[in-house]
Amino acid sequence: MQTCDICHGKLGFMNRFRYAEGCVCKQCYQKASRQFTETITGKSYKEIQALCDEAQKIPESFEVTGRIGNYLLVDERNREICVLNNRMTKHEAAAPDFYQIEEIKNCAISCLPHMDIGEIERKILERDEGIVKALKVKITLKNANKPVEISFFEGAVRIKSFAFRQSFGFAKRIMDEINRLQELCTE
Ligand SMILES: [Zn+2]
Repeated sequence: MQTCDICHGKLGFMNRFRYAEGCVCKQCYQKASRQFTETITGKSYKEIQALCDEAQKIPESFEVTGRIGNYLLVDERNREICVLNNRMTKHEAAAPDFYQIEEIKNCAISCLPHMDIGEIERKILERDEGIVKALKVKITLKNANKPVEISFFEGAVRIKSFAFRQSFGFAKRIMDEINRLQELCTE
């Protein structure tokens, strides 16, 4: 499965736009081309990423001190995170969501069928033939019942596939980063 370099959504035959270093989906192409007004074929990954960030309208008060793929931005100084809403998460272009670290109760990886992290890691190493139907990072907030979800793919993905290993890598980095920020805030 080939995925968009920016949002990691699926790339289809009619949903694939080439830039200097790879391909993006139509939604990301729309942002990177400033609403189809510029060509992107000569643009680098960094340029495409910056144009997509700009289209997400991150306020200037949010100082990006860290980022994990196109899923999460961190403002460590202001103890705030920004969940970038790619179409895997919200099914449409949506504004990003901001949360204070203090608002977060916990953060966990959720997988369907259910497996704990150790089991997933073992299966990746063993190049297991199994299939995963969903992979998410769930951020539970202190004052809300519904967790914030960062979703990595939809539909069946093989555990041994590159797409799964890549998604799981991002999920783990997000979880580790949020845990680290929470520890910083309790010190
Ligand atoms: Zn995309």
